[in-house]
Amino acid sequence: MPTLQQSFLIVTALLLALLIWRVGTAMLRSVSGSGFDRTKPEVEDVEELDVFLVCHECGTELHVTRLGELQVPRHCGESLQVVRRPAVG
Ligand SMILES: [Zn+2]
Repeated sequence: MPTLQQSFLIVTALLLALLIWRVGTAMLRSVSGSGFDRTKPEVEDVEELDVFLVCHECGTELHVTRLGELQVPRHCGESLQVVRRPAVG
């Protein structure tokens, strides 16, 4: 039967172990980047530049307002054309 002092030491040791484990996993999570702390790619606001992605096959036009990765999507099997066009008015 452990004395009161011994059981107090055991409880303290367990609490310390739990605390170290919690801090350790939190640090690992922030380092691995799986948390919401992840650095996003830079997003450029191009709404005022009036950039459009135009499909010459069917005439679909997409107004680009925010530009992340520079990657032109496809439409009707063809790459969309990047067109700068002043806004009407
Ligand atoms: Zn199209």
